[in-house]
Amino acid sequence: MPEVAPGIQRWAAPQASNAARPGGGQDHLGLNGIDASGLLAQLLPNINVLTVHPRYQSFYLFLLDEYWRRGEHRASAKGFSQFLRPREYFHSLANFYCQQPTHPVGDYGSVIGSRRTSGWAKRRDPIYPFRENYIGNALGGYGYYYRSVALGLDLIAGPKFGSLPLDKPTKRGAELAEAFREAVHDTEYIRKYFDADEVPREVIEEYAQVSCLCRTSDPATPDQRPLLDAFTTAGLAANARRAGLRTFLDIADQTDGHSLDDERFRQLIYFGRTDDGATYRATPKLAKEVARWRVWQAREYLSVGLSAIFALINDWGVAQGGVVRALPLAALWDHLRIHTSFGELSRDLGPGHPAIELDSAFATLVDWQAKHLNLGSPDLPDSLGEHRLAQLLRFEPRSTTRLALAGLLLVTAIGRRWREADAGEEFFDAGGGDDISIRQIGKWVQSASERRITVGDALRELCERVIRLHLNVALSKLPEDRFRFFRELGGFRFGGFDIGVGFVSSRYLALATHAHELALCGDPSLPIHPLTNLGLQFLKEA
Ligand SMILES: [Zn+2]
Repeated sequence: MPEVAPGIQRWAAPQASNAARPGGGQDHLGLNGIDASGLLAQLLPNINVLTVHPRYQSFYLFLLDEYWRRGEHRASAKGFSQFLRPREYFHSLANFYCQQPTHPVGDYGSVIGSRRTSGWAKRRDPIYPFRENYIGNALGGYGYYYRSVALGLDLIAGPKFGSLPLDKPTKRGAELAEAFREAVHDTEYIRKYFDADEVPREVIEEYAQVSCLCRTSDPATPDQRPLLDAFTTAGLAANARRAGLRTFLDIADQTDGHSLDDERFRQLIYFGRTDDGATYRATPKLAKEVARWRVWQAREYLSVGLSAIFALINDWGVAQGGVVRALPLAALWDHLRIHTSFGELSRDLGPGHPAIELDSAFATLVDWQAKHLNLGSPDLPDSLGEHRLAQLLRFEPRSTTRLALAGLLLVTAIGRRWREADAGEEFFDAGGGDDISIRQIGKWVQSASERRITVGDALRELCERVIRLHLNVALSKLPEDRFRFFRELGGFRFGGFDIGVGFVSSRYLALATHAHELALCGDPSLPIHPLTNLGLQFLKEA
């Protein structure tokens, strides 16, 4: 961050939690609330970006159930914290000693406390003492991430008041706890060391073979069935959760032979194929569900476009000294006139660029782009498709041209493509309060074409829309300082931050891990990931 004079330093440090958000982008435009908390919460309820392993529900319910068994009269939230933490710590270590065939090759990810425990486990000490600093939260990963899911799955009944919750297993939760108990009760850890502060490594290693998070991908594991039942039938959102899991299985079923990841999942959902040859066509019963996922991905592309325009404004302001003095917006328009060139962009995107410049009619740009988008076709569009533009913005070095024109083209592509589609879908109106729903973007593209404005005018309108959006979002977060720029003396002052450009939300890892670790399909990160009999049956019931 550049130096600023004392007295005018009013910027909060960038938050680590923002930097760590999957997708890499920070949420200065409020996009995460729309895409992740809004749409994904409907598409995939109770399978969250940080609740990756379903078996944590079995494990935490077992701990909760054990705790209550020890005498209800003594039960307290603080007592549960003291009970949970050492047991979560030893379980965390155990996940690194599993030798079962269900265990993935390489480092096992998303284990609670693993930032510390994976390194400690690798040292292979003969005895492990409980180390209090394995994680911060009083209720560990349960308090951080998994408790909200347990509530959504009707596994616990939580108290209405109190800062540290003391939950009670429901009937369903107690049954799940019992099934996990059946899986682990025979181990020396449970029999002799469950209350210990120090545990020999060999005891943890034995416990690992039955307690590891991977074990529910084997249907013979006692808690696999009640866990699958919970995820597919429990809670108010069970129908939506089932549909989300089925959509994933439909994709996994049709892509056996191709390994899957977040990027390929997005392409399969949006284009029905990936740039490396996997294809997907939704089975008729899931068509409506997949159409909703597709609008979610359209919003993700829109987010990349909008965040590129935001980065454009920010980069310009910081580079022009906007950290120490206010800059007039007219200077940004001059900057764009001088530094954006379709010729430069066409070198990035390949052949086929027309004779368009900033003073060309915007309608010409829209028509030309529509021809290159294969609107309405399930095929992957050519170099001007949303995927290519997003790749350019996310992974290639930044320039004014790239941010401005690829950003504008991406926003225009979404507005143009989805104007053709059935817009009766509620997802088209997500973000409407901020003037950035897909429907509103579509209307803007149409009206900008009809008003006969130039490409440069359209770019300015888009910049102004993004500025308004950021100021509104930052204003709503006060007193926390989230402004990356703000109005001052008829211009704008800048905070000197870096702005990321990327997708807002992804639950791919959690979704894929749930499908696999609930024994519905093989490991989707491997090319061969067939559906299990359970998975085939579950998909057929759609
Ligand atoms: Zn394992």
